[in-house]
Order: sequence, then structure tokens, then C-alpha cells
Amino acid sequence: MADQLSNDELVQRFPGEPITHDNAAHYRGRLRRELLVNRCDDCRLWHAPPKPMCPECWSWNVTPLPVSGNGAIFMNVFLYQGPPAPGVDYSTPYPVVTVELEEQVGLRFTATVADADNGDIQIGKAVRLDWRDRAGSPMPVFVLTGADA
Ligand SMILES: [Zn+2]
Repeated sequence: MADQLSNDELVQRFPGEPITHDNAAHYRGRLRRELLVNRCDDCRLWHAPPKPMCPECWSWNVTPLPVSGNGAIFMNVFLYQGPPAPGVDYSTPYPVVTVELEEQVGLRFTATVADADNGDIQIGKAVRLDWRDRAGSPMPVFVLTGADA
């Protein structure tokens, strides 16, 4: 059960990831293949990356909740080089996209796109969340849905 892992065990499940007090719940969600984003209990604003205080109303009452992972590509880059990472081969430029999630205008999450030709990864394309295994732990990725507006 992911929630019963100690903090040390959580860090060990995600080698190289910058796990902090603020994002630990997000990473625990990953182990259940849930993409958790902090939402304010008072004004209902979603915000990412996770912070302990709502950036809108300054409430400390924020709760990590699962999002659908559906959205559209807001920004994309292709990495021709970068830090060594399991399963990443920069000989084909590695896509990194920021996706605007359907839950809220301006709510964005950054990940790679799996199973797509780089030429098909374009701003505005509809994506959905999927998961891939990295170093034994689930990693959120996006896949193109082909259902563009
Ligand atoms: Zn708020």
C-alpha cells in the first residue's frame, strides 16, 4: 500500500526524483497510478506544482486529488541531450510537453509523450494520461488521442 511506505522508502522508489514534503503525496499517488494535483479546499483552485498554500487565497487547506489527465498540449520541446535517465535515448529527440489539463484553465502538467512520432506532437493536440514503468515505478506520460478539436 503506497500510503504506508515510509518517506525513506518513497524516496528509494523514485531514484533521482526531487521528492520533498510538498510533493510526497503526488509521488505516493504515482505508485497507485493516480495523478494527484493539489486543490484548495476553500476556493477550489487547482495548482501545480504542489505547494502547501493556495496561491490564490493563501489558504493552508489544500488537498491532493486525482485529475483525469485529459488535456491539450500547451507547449512542447524536444531534448537533443539531457541528463541520463532510464529508458531515455536522446538519439531520437526526447519530447517534453506541458499539457493544459481539462480540470481548469491554466492548470498544466509536464511529462513526456509516449508512442508518438515527434512530428505528430504539436501544440493543441489532445492527449490523455497513461503510465509507463521507469526504474520499477510508474511514471506519468501523455499519449495522443487523435481526437482533436
Ligand atoms: Zn484557495
